[in-house]
Amino acid sequence: MRKSYLLTPGPTPIPPQVSQEEAKPIIHHLTPQFQAVIKEVSEGLKYVFQTASDVYILASSGTGAMEAAVVNLLSPGDTVITVEAGKFGERWTEICQAYCVTAEVIKVEWGKAVDPKEIEKRIKNNPKIKAVFTTLCETSTGVTNDIQAIGTVVKGTGAVLVVDAISGLGAIDLKTDAWSVDVCVSGSQKGLMLPPGLSFISLSPKAWELVELARSPRYYFDMRAAKKALEKTDTPYTPAISLIIALAESLKMMKQDGLENVFARHRKMADATRCAMKDLGLELFAPTAASDVVTAVKVPAGIDGEKLVKTMRDTYRVTIAGGQAELKGKVFRFAHMGYIEEFDIIVGISCLEKVLKQMGYKFELGAGVKAAEEVFFK
Ligand SMILES: *Cc1c(COP(=O)(O)O)cnc(C)c1O
Repeated sequence: MRKSYLLTPGPTPIPPQVSQEEAKPIIHHLTPQFQAVIKEVSEGLKYVFQTASDVYILASSGTGAMEAAVVNLLSPGDTVITVEAGKFGERWTEICQAYCVTAEVIKVEWGKAVDPKEIEKRIKNNPKIKAVFTTLCETSTGVTNDIQAIGTVVKGTGAVLVVDAISGLGAIDLKTDAWSVDVCVSGSQKGLMLPPGLSFISLSPKAWELVELARSPRYYFDMRAAKKALEKTDTPYTPAISLIIALAESLKMMKQDGLENVFARHRKMADATRCAMKDLGLELFAPTAASDVVTAVKVPAGIDGEKLVKTMRDTYRVTIAGGQAELKGKVFRFAHMGYIEEFDIIVGISCLEKVLKQMGYKFELGAGVKAAEEVFFK
């Protein structure tokens, strides 16, 4: 097997000490050993979510926790707001529709962040709005929404604020409690440096009031069962034991670094990446509100964007992501989320330069690497 690099916005690379936890012999979950793990990860998740509320662990990809949010908060016929600033915002609308919840969609031009005032206006116009569904980092466009400002607007209304922080949690700041986020959902394969397979959901006291009233059909993702089990340091069904043991390790790493340092590292990686793209003469897809977890870059004229991504991956084993949906072939997405450091960025930019050069794009070889290095020297 040849050496390879993963620079995608999920899955992200996994630290070896985390992988090693997963490789250990399985233990039974109804044991004091596993209960100790549950206690440890419960504390660690509260730290990373920046909440005093319990965070529940589900055995699913991130979308499972999104579905859990919808079915536990709402009833058929309810009306909510969904923010669609990209592919993942659209997912909120789709899940709501699947459960006969009416979504008033706020459509945002791809590459832009939602204007919190628009949310404020919509809630004022319709006091029946029960929830606002948003996205921390819209991975499809590389934009971060201003959750703090949205929280200010939703707080004090009858609606709960639900944030898809699948991409971004544990990488960029999200103060669940301080910013009045009622429900925060995340997944394991992004900032938390784990393989896919776990999702997470935190619920505020305001959200729990809705959970008791909601009439959407639910069974596996019924948060009432999860709550009852966690009170006994248990889970309602067999948990993803090995992944949760690995989670204890990744949370420990994050705690040792300290969240502020984790955020600062992501900021630096993002800054270096953006400077590199600029000095390569490439244009960012989302110059305002650019996220620190993934950088979306416009494919320059005359270059086949899909071929660029394929060649980097298949010839040089450096995997970045292409564009999704309407951005297919038009952008590439260079991620710097999770277990990523300076020299991973240098490798990624170097490979990008090599393939761009081979494809006939005109620029000074090394310009991107130099720009990134200059950021790292600061
Ligand atoms: C990756 C991602 C998801 C999807 O999660 P799955 O784990 O694939 O279900 C949802 N929202 C955002 C913002 C993401 O980046």
